[in-house]
Amino acid sequence: MNVPLLDLKAQYQTLKPELDKALIDCAESQYFILGPQVKEMEEQFQEYLGVKHAFGVSSGTDALLIALMAIDIQPGDEVILPTYSFFATAGVVSRLNAVPVFVDCDPVSFNIDPNQIEAKITEKTKAIIPVHLYGQSADMEPIMAIAKKHNLKVVEDGAQAISTQYKDGKCAGTIGDIGCYSFFPSKNLGCFGDGGLVVTNDDDLAYQLKIKRVHGGDPKYYHKVIGGNFRLDAIQAAVIQVKLPHLDKWSEGRRQNAAMYTKLFIEAGLSESEGILEFTENNKVLLPKALWAESGHKNYHIYNQYIIRVDKRDELQKFLKENGIGSEVYYPVPFHRQECFADLNQVDSDYPVANFAAEHSLALPIYPELSGEQLEYVVERIGEFLNR
Ligand SMILES: *Cc1c(COP(=O)(O)O)cnc(C)c1O
Repeated sequence: MNVPLLDLKAQYQTLKPELDKALIDCAESQYFILGPQVKEMEEQFQEYLGVKHAFGVSSGTDALLIALMAIDIQPGDEVILPTYSFFATAGVVSRLNAVPVFVDCDPVSFNIDPNQIEAKITEKTKAIIPVHLYGQSADMEPIMAIAKKHNLKVVEDGAQAISTQYKDGKCAGTIGDIGCYSFFPSKNLGCFGDGGLVVTNDDDLAYQLKIKRVHGGDPKYYHKVIGGNFRLDAIQAAVIQVKLPHLDKWSEGRRQNAAMYTKLFIEAGLSESEGILEFTENNKVLLPKALWAESGHKNYHIYNQYIIRVDKRDELQKFLKENGIGSEVYYPVPFHRQECFADLNQVDSDYPVANFAAEHSLALPIYPELSGEQLEYVVERIGEFLNR
């Protein structure tokens, strides 16, 4: 049996007539960049996410970059972020000649550990970038409290978390000063190329985002500030508009698949525990866990990734590949170990959780179109590997 990590063609097949029509309509309109299609999409996101302003931008990375430009990050400023994330989270900080300051992760969610943030704050600290990793919200309550206390801005990296809800039911990305999302094809809501979105409830920041998306001119050709070309194509907005009404259903599908995996792993005796760090048992997997499970808490985890932690991870990945099963390591190298950040002189042992994650985590196929047989096959093969 073949179980790819992601099957975009399966999703395309379910919406082909509408998506094809949207593409042809764009061709016929010959209106390619920003314009009414992008505006309409932005209005839909304001409503969907419950946020005052939304702007389509050229990618998730550019969403983060323009957000940092909007809050006026200057060379030498320090920005606190988790050491374990996709590279863009740290890369955008360095691109502005500011300094990324790394924090280790929470052992259950692998999101930034709020308890370790304050120790990293200096006079130069200007902002925090929590990442809602794998589609589960970072713990925003303590993060916002710390930001308020120290007068810091919060830019949320919600690239993997469009429609994720924090434990209070608020959409991840709408809690801090600016929220950033990605429409990269492998995200839960993907377009046909690069695309992204920035959102804010703050009118002044909205103005900065709006003008910095088009080089900072206001009026056009008159520049008080410098922006960039962070514009979204109409064609990408059209694709997103076709897909957005299906997002909740897809999230539910991912959550059901996650619940099914967890059930199958436990039934097969391959796991007893969800989401603890201590890795005492060989031949077992640790399963991802949704935080704040107490009743009344929403915490809507949308499983952009379903991450198990396992010993002999690389061998397992190879074995799965031989058996037609796709998997991926997100991420093999935390920021504090990246060569490009060597000048930051990080101490490796300061980041035990991220180091553990980098060496043990493995993403399994979780996309909503997976069949029950495929999920069973994945768990069976993992069982075969662990018990051999
Ligand atoms: C994908 C991703 C980004 C970057 O988004 P792009 O659209 O690929 O530029 C940033 N941060 C995280 C956590 C991501 O997963």
